[in-house]
Parts: sequence; structure tokens; C-alpha cells
Amino acid sequence: MIRKQIRNRLQNYKVSLNSPDPELPFNILTPKKVAVIGGGLAGISTACNLSERGFKVDLFEKENFLGGKVGSWTFDSNGEKLRAEHGFHGFFRQYYNLRSFLKKIGAYHHLIPIDDYVILFDKNKKQGFKGLDNTPIYNIWGLRKFGIVDWKTFLNPMALPFLNLLKFDSDTTYKKFDSESFADFARRTRMNEKMRLVFNSFSRAFFSEPEDMSMAELIKSFHFYFLSNEEGLLYDVLDDDFQLSFISYCETFLKKHNANIRYKEPVISFEKANAGFLINGEGFDYCVLCTDVKHTKQLIAGAKGFEPYPETTRKLAGLKQSGRYAVYRLWTDRFEADSTLPFFIFTDRLKCLDSVTLYHKMEKESAEWSEKNNGGIFELHSYSIPKNIMDDKELKTELLLELFHYFPELKGMHHKHEYFQHRDDFPGFHTGEHASRPEVETEVPGLYLAGDWVKMDNCAMLMEAAYTSGAMAANYIMQNEGLRTNVIESVPVKGLLA
Ligand SMILES: Cc1cc2nc3c(=O)[nH]c(=O)nc-3n(C[C@H](O)[C@H](O)[C@H](O)COP(=O)(O)OP(=O)(O)OC[C@H]3O[C@@H](n4cnc5c(N)ncnc54)[C@H](O)[C@@H]3O)c2cc1C
Repeated sequence: MIRKQIRNRLQNYKVSLNSPDPELPFNILTPKKVAVIGGGLAGISTACNLSERGFKVDLFEKENFLGGKVGSWTFDSNGEKLRAEHGFHGFFRQYYNLRSFLKKIGAYHHLIPIDDYVILFDKNKKQGFKGLDNTPIYNIWGLRKFGIVDWKTFLNPMALPFLNLLKFDSDTTYKKFDSESFADFARRTRMNEKMRLVFNSFSRAFFSEPEDMSMAELIKSFHFYFLSNEEGLLYDVLDDDFQLSFISYCETFLKKHNANIRYKEPVISFEKANAGFLINGEGFDYCVLCTDVKHTKQLIAGAKGFEPYPETTRKLAGLKQSGRYAVYRLWTDRFEADSTLPFFIFTDRLKCLDSVTLYHKMEKESAEWSEKNNGGIFELHSYSIPKNIMDDKELKTELLLELFHYFPELKGMHHKHEYFQHRDDFPGFHTGEHASRPEVETEVPGLYLAGDWVKMDNCAMLMEAAYTSGAMAANYIMQNEGLRTNVIESVPVKGLLA
């Protein structure tokens, strides 16, 4: 009975954000030219949604591969050709729009479930969340058995703010909590160690230190991933390298719909001209900017003709990147001792190691390498490199030391190959940034924004935000041209007690 009421109150865990008019035409009769800048997930989403309707889409990508942070590329090492990616990605089950897209392009069958959501801590303790009740409220109450909450969590007057986790509402949550960091919130509420561990892993998934992470963004993420639906914390992963299991399907779809994919063509000149845009000197009717925060700032700094639109340029120029992060993949001659571990494990970092992915268990191509070479492929992530570590050599040494802390059996392993990335191109979700975050629609006629950093009136995050914002940008353009829009779905946009 109570479960039914929760489900009703949370609108069956799924809402449509728009109601397309079936009377309107599907295809554009006189094709308009659209420049999509940036071939990550947001750009792929925009380009696929528009080219399907007959728009003439040019997708500009500075690299020689599509996908951005979900892209993959080859490199040579010791006589072998191997693939590298930006790092492990989990496809949560509440990624309604992204998952529909995977079905549409025929890639959905590549998703395989993880066994458990596991955090390693101390020297040899592990916390899994398998078997947790999925119904919101019941799932929080179920955290009792892991020592993460108890009755005091919600009844202790110091802890009353915890109720705000159930009250997500984009207006009030950001007003109340965007200026407070997660670390300050944890201190103020005397959050217990176990709960801090769980929230820390959420905070790090946004590439932020607890001292920087906006508590409002964390409440939104807890709502999106845990408290607004019955999908639970478990998720799926792609069973093979991203190019083979995902991006190649996007390319086939785009080519089928005559989109022009312009690999290795960075946009270096961006100009508002008359009714449209000049992109690298070529004229377009519409432009959708799908670049990451770092490159968006560079592009807007050199843009011309935007003087009449100071609000958009101010917001874009003011975007913030996250801190630095590292992804270190190692092809080795050893395996982990605990064969029950899932593909992906969060670690309670000692200094910099946040997670370890066991690629030899997950991706087909990696499994083949592993079998042939009798060794595991491990990927180590640091989602927020400590400010005092600047040097790659030191960072690699620290990551390995922490790997051996959690997996002592790997000490002395030989690296047959390695691929190391030290980057700073993730958006910041830090305190005080929400008010000035730009939205999909801008004041510049014909210019739209898409990416995981764009503010939307729904609570999609990370990959789902990138895909959804691209689909929203495409919808605005379709609407402008009098076409039927595509349905966009979301978990309920307000919390149970909001
Ligand atoms: C290590 C790591 C782990 C992650 N794990 C997860 C996860 O488990 N689950 C999840 O949901 N999300 C995860 N994410 C986040 C997810 O990858 C991103 O949110 C999403 O892919 C962002 O897509 P995007 O299109 O907004 O941006 P991007 O992927 O950054 O795409 C931007 C594109 O613009 C291109 N570009 C930039 N400048 C120009 C220019 N001037 N001209 C042409 N092209 C240009 C870039 O080359 C890039 O292709 C993870 C990210 C990282 C880095």
C-alpha cells in the first residue's frame, strides 16, 4: 500500500517533459543548414535527432574519432595496436533518453549488468549494495543494514537537513544549498563515516573534492540516481570497446541520414552573421555548441558578432572546469585475487585513487587480450587529483601504491603496456555556479547549447544530461521550423516531499 502511494506520488517514476503535436509534420521540406560543434554525446544526440528529420547537418569534431569522453582511439605500444578510452562508464537504468537512443541505433544489446555497486575501504573491507530495496524511502531505510543510516539520522535535530534529500526541487534546492559545499554540510550535520563514504563516492563521480562540490548538485544527484525511481544504484556497462559497441552505430545512423561528419576539423572561427552563423567561414542557419567547457570558453573568447548578446557570452565565458583528473590503464601479467569483485569498484581514496575497473572481466576485446597474454587489464581513476600533485610520475606512483594497498597480490606485476591521461576538461559542479549556468536556449537567435554542463529544467546528469540536452536543442530547432518534436522523458523533477 505504502509502496503504491510512493509510486503514485512519484508519477510512476517517469514523466514526459513535452507533448509533441502528432498533427505537425515529421520532416523538414526545405532543409536548413545546422552546424553542430563538438562530436561528443551531446553533439551526436543533436546531429542524429536533426539529420533524421532532413536537416543538413555538419558535425564538426576536432579529433579523428567521435564520442568525446565516450570515444575510443587506437595507439601503438611494444609492437601491438591497442585501444584507449577516456575511462569506465556506467549506464544507469534511469538514463531513459540515452537508453531509448541505444535501442534506436541498434546498440542496446551491448549493455550488460554489473553484479554490485562496491566500495573498498580500510585495508580489506568492502561495502556492496546488492539486494537493497529499490523503492524510494525503503532504499534509504535499507541502508541501515550497512550502518549508513539509523533512526537518529532523520530524528536528530542536527540532522534535520537530511530530509532535504527527499525534497529536491530545482528552485528551492539551489537557493538553499548551492552555496554550501558537501564537506560543510557533512560537518554541520555531523554525518557519520559510512554515509560520508557513500556521498564522497557520489561527489567524486562529479570530479569534485567534497570541499568544492555544491550540496545542491549532490541533492539533485541523489534524487536522480536513488530517490526518484525504482532503478536502484545498479547499472549496465558496454560489453566491448566504446567505438565497437556504441560509436560505430552512431556513425552508421548519421551516415544513413546524410549528416556530414567532419573529423579532425576543429572550429577555430565562430561568428554571428546576419540571420545565421559563419563557422570556419562557412554559412549556417543554426548552430548548436556541444563543446566541453574548456573548449567552449576558448571558442567564445575568440567569437565575433556576439556583442548584442552580452548575457550569453558572459555566461559562457564564466563557465568553470572541474579539477584535474587521471585515467591510468595497465595491461599486466597478474589478476586480482578476489574473483567475486564486480567490473568496477570505488575505493575510499588514501590520497588519489578513486576507482579501479577490471577491463579483462568486462570488455570483449580486453578479455581476448587477457586470455592470450594471461594477465589482467586494470584502469585506475583519480577523479580529483590532489592540488599538491602536479607531476605525472608522482601521480602514477601514488596510484600504483594505492592499488597495491587494496590489491596486495598485484605487487611486483609487470606492465606490458600502459596508457596514462591527465586531463582537466570536465565541468565543475562547484558551489555557487548554478545561477549563472547557461541553458539550452540562448538569447542569440538560432544558437543553442548542449552538453553535460548545460542547465536544464529536469534532473538528468552526466551522460544522460549530455544526450538529453542535445535532444532538447534539436527539439527547439524543430519547433522553430514548425515540426513535431521528439518526446523527452525524465524521472520526476521533484522529490517525494517537495
Ligand atoms: C573518466 C570519466 C568517467 C566517467 N564516467 C561516467 C559514468 O560512469 N557515467 C556517466 O553517466 N558519465 C560518466 N562520465 C561523464 C560523461 O563521459 C560525460 O558527461 C559525457 O560524455 C559528456 O558528453 P558531452 O558531449 O557533453 O562532452 P564531451 O564528451 O566532452 O564532448 C565534447 C566534444 O567537443 C569536441 N570539441 C571541443 N572543442 C572543439 C572545437 N573547437 N571544434 C570541434 N570539436 C570540438 C571534443 O573533442 C569532444 O569530442 C565520465 C567521464 C569521465 C571523464
